[in-house]
Amino acid sequence: MATAFFPLTPQGFGTEDIEALDSYILRLATEHGVTEYQFHRLLAWWWNHAKSESQGELGRHVGYVSKIGYGKDIDTLIQALEKATGQEGLSGLTLSAFRDICGTHVGCQSRHVHYWCPACLRDQTKEGLPAYEKLAWRLSVISRCRTHKLALESMCPSCGRNQLRHVDTWPDCSGCGESLISKEHLWRPSDHPSDGESDMLDVIAHCAANPGTIFHRDAARQFWKLIREDKSRKGQAGNEYFHQRPEPTRTLISVLLRFSREMNVPLLSILLDPTQASAIRTLPMGEWDPCHKTHLGRGRCRLSVSQRKALGRTLKLYLRSGKTYKSLVQLCGALPCSTGAARYWYPDLVQAVVERNRSLKRGISKNHEKSLKRLSLDAELALKAEAVGWHKVEAELSEQFAVPLHRVRKRLSILKRGTRG
Ligand SMILES: [Zn+2]
Ligand SMILES: [Zn+2]
Repeated sequence: MATAFFPLTPQGFGTEDIEALDSYILRLATEHGVTEYQFHRLLAWWWNHAKSESQGELGRHVGYVSKIGYGKDIDTLIQALEKATGQEGLSGLTLSAFRDICGTHVGCQSRHVHYWCPACLRDQTKEGLPAYEKLAWRLSVISRCRTHKLALESMCPSCGRNQLRHVDTWPDCSGCGESLISKEHLWRPSDHPSDGESDMLDVIAHCAANPGTIFHRDAARQFWKLIREDKSRKGQAGNEYFHQRPEPTRTLISVLLRFSREMNVPLLSILLDPTQASAIRTLPMGEWDPCHKTHLGRGRCRLSVSQRKALGRTLKLYLRSGKTYKSLVQLCGALPCSTGAARYWYPDLVQAVVERNRSLKRGISKNHEKSLKRLSLDAELALKAEAVGWHKVEAELSEQFAVPLHRVRKRLSILKRGTRG
């Protein structure tokens, strides 16, 4: 079938190596012998004449939009591209599957600088394929190539510059023209996957193989609800991940990644089938392997096993102690650890501490009030105040009754009002 534009196929179709939409458009523009901006103008002009009544207009400004996410403009752009090139499933070249869950917040994942795996670029040229940029390389959560176990590069090995966005010189540097594949001795091996790497790659692979996938907006929340019904995990707050509002709010991809990591269940399983995912979840919350303690995303909750034990001991000891008063901040500050971590790891103990402190405080303030009952506003006091000033009198009374200054002031103001009335 003849198409209006060249029927260029996206690279890596149906796999986790799928091309990014930006890269595809850039190659398409190059194929037509025009710049990317010119290509967008051409496409917009053609589409706005060829489209049907019901289809949206394509603005020329779409050339400036980041094409990793989704939205009205990108949807129309994809429609136009599919019609223009006769290709199908181009939405798989973006993160469009998250559109119901994440609003338009894919910005938390997208990179503004080009990254690449030099070995992948070398393989592409070796196999006679056009050098292209993978969708995965555009995401900040991916820091290395899983196939070659190499850290992704962002700077030219010859001149050290980043690559220009709208210029297609791959696999050569857009700054100096030297090859980005050269200087193999500078390649940096990376054996450790970043948190969320496999989760994200699995999601990309699934969406690439099933273009048009749109994850259900309540999948993660549903999963969380099922998990929470398990009595053994009582006391963990869902607010950690999902804001509780009358209307469900949308979340961020980075939050989803952290959630799945902390739940120890692949993100793809959670998004595809929350019920099944909640059944395969085996580790109860808070029981992470100590070797992976950094897997606890939030810095404030990151405690080693020994720190955690010390925290538990301190809290228990305090609860058993006599009438001493220490606030939770003081207790945690001495360890040191944050109150957030204490709340996270020992919700019940912290609750007990807070309640005990509250009742201690109540007792103390009752005692203060009792002793201040003896204070009366007589002529002697008024004379003294005239001589030395009220603030001195207040300070003396505070010492005399062993009561904080603010309480003395309050009591005096009540008494003064009483005499005036
Ligand atoms: Zn690679
Ligand atoms: Zn260079």
